[in-house]
Amino acid sequence: MAARVRALETILVQKGLIDPAAIDVIVDIYETKVGPRNGAKVVAKAWTEPDYAGWLKKDATAAIASLGFTGRQGEHMQAVFNSDDTHNLVVCTLCSCYPWTVLGLPPVWYKAPPYRSRAVIDPRGVLEEFGLTLPPQKKVRVWDSTAELRYLVVPQRPAGTDNWDAERLAELVTRDSMIGTGLAKEPVAA
Ligand code: FE
Repeated sequence: MAARVRALETILVQKGLIDPAAIDVIVDIYETKVGPRNGAKVVAKAWTEPDYAGWLKKDATAAIASLGFTGRQGEHMQAVFNSDDTHNLVVCTLCSCYPWTVLGLPPVWYKAPPYRSRAVIDPRGVLEEFGLTLPPQKKVRVWDSTAELRYLVVPQRPAGTDNWDAERLAELVTRDSMIGTGLAKEPVAA
């Protein structure tokens, strides 16, 4: 894959279609400046501000953009909220669509064919491999991302965090909890 990407980049540069310096800047932004901490701030704000949670439910693109998180691969966002009844899991069965603006670069497994196919065939089995066993009565809802629409899972707020402020709560929000392959950390684990 790396060789293919290099070959493609070489051709595009030779044809004058891309500027390598611009590509380097874009890669650096997503590698070092954007990451799951953006998403964690969104989730923690939703946990602490009911009005914001309502906005996030209705219009995630705008609610997320209000925190300054806009850009490529985040143009159209939908937030899906975990509850006592339902757990949400995000995949892109076709390729690797991922909400870069809130989660940064995707983990390697997110792009791997086994995750992409099995997340829809056997979501509970996949979750177990991530160490997450859900009670049988809890529904699992799988969301298939597209180039047009990306999803952000809002995990449930852990118990025992009643007096925590958003900044402290954000520390409990992991990347995997926002993809749905994990839960937010318990206060003791944090
Ligand atoms: Fe995709």
